[in-house]
Amino acid sequence: MRAVTYHGSGKMQVDTVDDPTIEDPRDAIIKVSSTAICGSDLHIYDGFMPQMKAGDVIGHEFMGEVVEVGSAVTKLEKGDRVIVPFNITCGECPFCHDELYSLCDNSNPDAEKLRQIYGQSGAGLFGYSHLYGGYPGGQAEYVRIPYADTTHLKVPEHLDDEKVLFLTDILPTGYQAAVNADIKPGGTVAIWGAGPVGLMALKSCFLLGAERVFVIDNVPERLALAVAHGAEVMFTSHEKPYDVLMDRTDGRLPDSVIDAVGLEAHGSGVIDTVYDQVKTLTMQETDRPHALREAIFCCRKGGTVSMPGVYAGMVDKFPIGAAFGKALTFKMGQTHVLKHAPELLRRIEEGDIDPSFIISHRGTLEDAPALYKAFRDKADGCVKVVLTP
Ligand code: NAD
Ligand code: ZN
Repeated sequence: MRAVTYHGSGKMQVDTVDDPTIEDPRDAIIKVSSTAICGSDLHIYDGFMPQMKAGDVIGHEFMGEVVEVGSAVTKLEKGDRVIVPFNITCGECPFCHDELYSLCDNSNPDAEKLRQIYGQSGAGLFGYSHLYGGYPGGQAEYVRIPYADTTHLKVPEHLDDEKVLFLTDILPTGYQAAVNADIKPGGTVAIWGAGPVGLMALKSCFLLGAERVFVIDNVPERLALAVAHGAEVMFTSHEKPYDVLMDRTDGRLPDSVIDAVGLEAHGSGVIDTVYDQVKTLTMQETDRPHALREAIFCCRKGGTVSMPGVYAGMVDKFPIGAAFGKALTFKMGQTHVLKHAPELLRRIEEGDIDPSFIISHRGTLEDAPALYKAFRDKADGCVKVVLTP
């Protein structure tokens, strides 16, 4: 089959690789109908993700049709149409029982490696390195789904792929970010990053009762989408978020802040971003937390900091004093996709939300190398890429 494969920093390729097969009686194979490129894939593309091997098949946002099931699979049959959550979910461990699916205890065969760095490991992930199980990903014609009975959500035929594909990751991620932001009716939220995750968080903040949502970025077409969906926006290139937020909230500052940027934050020559560039290039720091520092500074006292943006290792100059002095609450982590996806599917069916508005580019698997580049560079108005194998 054809699949998008990793060949070192900045190099994605489309190769012919072996078709997946049933390796365990609990597996299923799906034929992919649609797959998307995620901001998290950019961390791989940009070389921030350790333990990638040349030829690894990437991609963790995909859906399709079941074409084969293992002998122990009871909840799926050939022909079922499913979305697949990016985290592999055993359904049996204490974490899955508590709906903390991204922390599944059984699905990561590389758990010992993460235990040594983090103390414990989260779930195995599709297409996301040999720290997370080395599972081939979904930017491919076919994918093997381990623990298939619990690693899927069936979707009705009458909803187009583009309406439901983002249930695999970014829609639940934006929603969990808003839940974690502890929004009270009438509350004010500021979101750093107007990428797919920031835009899904924006929609979710309004669904959960926020009155005003500010979105901060410097990419005009992304901020234009945020405005079209009700946000008040600011450009980091020429506005100081703290000053603007102080002014627009009469000195109160937002009740909650959301970091939808993560470890590759850029800055317009601000001193701490230069510091992070130098420290990461010389391997003395792994992540660039400029947006997180700014979000902490801009959060009102007693407020909540929600962090859907991915962090991987160590950061410097973390403003622990400001966080402590303002008694902030922090919530973060990978998304427990299946905790939120059924409710979000209902909201899509009822017309409360249609996440397809962010799709700017469509292509086939063969177009992936060029579309990775456009998405990373935010070139050609690229906001979100969907590939049809
Ligand atoms: P993206 O790269 O398309 O978007 C990031 C946006 O942040 C860009 O528009 C960029 O211009 C903006 N940005 C960069 N530096 C900034 C700064 N200093 N201030 C304000 N904006 C800034 O990626 P995405 O798909 O939207 O993903 C965003 C983050 O969410 C990534 O870190 C991704 O890995 C993470 N993510 C997490 C989960 C999860 O389970 N928690 C799931 C999906 C994605
Ligand atoms: Zn993703």
